[in-house]
Amino acid sequence: MDLNTVETYAAVTNRAELQRMHTGDAATAVVAGGTWIFSVPQPHLRTLVDVTSMGWEPYSITGDGLRLAATCPVGVLETIRFPAAWRSRPLLRQCVRALLASYKVRAVATVGGNICAALPAGAMTSLTVALDGVGEVWAPDGGVRHLPVADLVTGDNRTDLRPGEVLRAVDLPAHALSATTAFRRVSLARLGRSATLVVGRRDPDGRVVVTVTASTPRPVVLRYDAPPTASAVAAEVEHVVEAGVGWFDDVHGAPDWRRGTTLRFVREVVEELT
Ligand SMILES: Cc1cc2nc3c(=O)[nH]c(=O)nc-3n(C[C@H](O)[C@H](O)[C@H](O)COP(=O)(O)OP(=O)(O)OC[C@H]3O[C@@H](n4cnc5c(N)ncnc54)[C@H](O)[C@@H]3O)c2cc1C
Repeated sequence: MDLNTVETYAAVTNRAELQRMHTGDAATAVVAGGTWIFSVPQPHLRTLVDVTSMGWEPYSITGDGLRLAATCPVGVLETIRFPAAWRSRPLLRQCVRALLASYKVRAVATVGGNICAALPAGAMTSLTVALDGVGEVWAPDGGVRHLPVADLVTGDNRTDLRPGEVLRAVDLPAHALSATTAFRRVSLARLGRSATLVVGRRDPDGRVVVTVTASTPRPVVLRYDAPPTASAVAAEVEHVVEAGVGWFDDVHGAPDWRRGTTLRFVREVVEELT
C-alpha cells in the first residue's frame, strides 16, 4: 500500500549517511525488502531509510561459521553452498519454505527484515535462533553491540532494538551449523502462516537444543548437555511456556491447538534426534 505520510525516502550507502538519517526519531523507520512495512498502515512515519543500498555482502562463510547480512534476501539462503561438515543445510531450505511467500517475495524479503518485524511466524527468527544466531546491532552513536537473536525478538512485533538501532548481520556459529537438525511445522490453512514451528538440533558433541517458535509470542529455547527423553522435553516446554510467555493466539491458530501441536512436534524431533 502507499504510505502517503512518508515525505523522505533515503537510500543510504554508508554508515555516516545511515547515522545522519536514522537518529532514533519515532517518525523514521528502516526499510529493507519492504514486504512487511508496506503491507500495513504506518501513519506515524515521515522518513524511510533504505538499508539495501548499503552494499553488504549477502553472506560470507568463515572459519567461525556463516555470517548473514541483515539485507540478505531470504531466497538466497537456499543457494548457499555449505562446507561438507555443516549438516544443518536442510534447515535453511525448510525455514525459507516456511515463509509462505511467492518466489517474488522471497527474492526481496530480507533476513533482517523478517527478524526485526518480529512476527511469531518469522521463519528467519526460527532459523537463526535454532542455530544460536547472534545479531550485530549498530547504534546511532556509532557503537556496536551483539546479542542472541533469541533475545532480540521479545514478542509479537516487538524487539530489543533501541531507537535508531539497525541490525547489521547475524552470525551463525560453525558448531550449530554442523549439527543434525529435525524440523516440524504446521499452519491452519494449507497455504497459511506458520502456527507452530519446532526445530531440534543435535550437535556433534551430543548436546541437544529444542527451539519453539510461531506457537509462542517469542522464541523459546531449551538446552540439554546430553540427549534427553522426548517426554521430559515436552513436559519442560509445557512448563516453561505456561509459566512464561504463554501460547500465542491469533487468526492463524488457537492457543490450545498450538499447545497440542507444539508438544507433539517436540516429542517427534527429540525422538528423531536421539
Ligand atoms: C505474501 C506474503 C507472505 C508473508 N509471509 C510471512 C510469514 O509466513 N512469516 C513472516 O514472518 N512474515 C511473512 N510476511 C511478512 C514479511 O514479508 C516478512 O516478515 C519479511 O521477511 C520482511 O522482510 P522485509 O525485508 O521485507 O522487511 P521490511 O518490510 O522492509 O521491514 C520489516 C520491519 O523490520 C524493520 N527492519 C528491516 N530491516 C531492518 C534492519 N536491518 N535493522 C532494523 N530494523 C529493520 C523495518 O523497520 C520494519 O519494521 C509475508 C509477507 C507477504 C507479502
